[in-house]
Amino acid sequence: TETGTEISIDDLPIRDDLRGRSPYGAPQLDVPVALNTNENPYPPSERLAGALAGAVAATAAGLNRYPDRDAVRLRAGLAAYLGHGLDTRGVWAANGSNEVLLQILQAFGGPGRTAMGFEPSYSMHPIITGVTGTGWSPQQRGPGFGIDPDAAVAAITREQPDIVFLTSPNNPTGTALPLEVIERVAAAAPGMVVVDEAYAEFRREGTPSALSLLPDHPRLIVTRTMSKAFALAGARVGYLAAHPAVVDALQLVRLPYHLSAVTQAVAATALDFADELLGAVKQLREERDSLVAWLRDRGHAVADSDANFVLFGEFADRSAVWRGLLDHGVLIREVGPPGWLRVTVGTPDEMAAFRTALTGVTAGGG
Ligand code: PMP
Repeated sequence: TETGTEISIDDLPIRDDLRGRSPYGAPQLDVPVALNTNENPYPPSERLAGALAGAVAATAAGLNRYPDRDAVRLRAGLAAYLGHGLDTRGVWAANGSNEVLLQILQAFGGPGRTAMGFEPSYSMHPIITGVTGTGWSPQQRGPGFGIDPDAAVAAITREQPDIVFLTSPNNPTGTALPLEVIERVAAAAPGMVVVDEAYAEFRREGTPSALSLLPDHPRLIVTRTMSKAFALAGARVGYLAAHPAVVDALQLVRLPYHLSAVTQAVAATALDFADELLGAVKQLREERDSLVAWLRDRGHAVADSDANFVLFGEFADRSAVWRGLLDHGVLIREVGPPGWLRVTVGTPDEMAAFRTALTGVTAGGG
């Protein structure tokens, strides 16, 4: 410009280790069919929306006061929901599981420390790791996007990471881990082991949760979220289950009153509707299984999915397929290994639109 007063990020005295980085950037485009961020396609029912509005109204009258710093009512509700003998002291909540992960890195990572993950996996794990000045040690997943326990134990023994991330079911592959892998990793890891179970409720029959391992593993943390199964992505509520000593450690880094009174009331109210919400999850699981079958029938490679999304391929030019779908009004995600694409499971109508669009795009020789 003529004024010459415009400055860019490069002109600012930001931390050297942040220079050249890009922010997390799933596109937020206005499209008829958005199947790109693993959201729950079902908005709160009228009954639930009414209860949420009532809870907010009741909270509004007291907003001159700070909220319960320890979010006790919400944590008690989350503990009851999780079961496994958990109580308030072993559960912690924050603004989305992303903030839970940040607090874990703040307490257990930091400069001079390292976190390890098995890729492809959730892109925020290395980002949150880096933001806290923690080193990142990426390992590769094996065939079928699983984790070979011997290879994992060897990497952990060699690198002695302070934190190990295991994502199960994994994003973007949908793959869940057998408990044996988690136990082997927990036995070998010198520090904390975080099992990111954001998609836990979408697991297929017989796929276990790591919650059952908590009593025997004081350095194990299981993270969850209300963004997916509870259809509450807009409210920003994530949580974890762990030994009460882990929760004590996180209180050292959390900001006072980090979880607003509105958020706490909304989340606790949604928990009362767990049965209704898990009914919709069951529908989504069935929709997911028929999507996997349909894609395989059409000759695509499809990763087994225990989540509310499906990774499929393999395309010589996945960008062309992604763009072709967008031309049909269907937004999915270009993520994962080269040649693969990820689609979130939506409503039956949205999935019909996806199938029609993909048929059109791939018939064109894409
Ligand atoms: N973990 C995984 C594996 C995810 O895919 C996501 C969201 N895409 C999150 C954590 C974070 O979700 P939230 O902050 O909404 O709880």
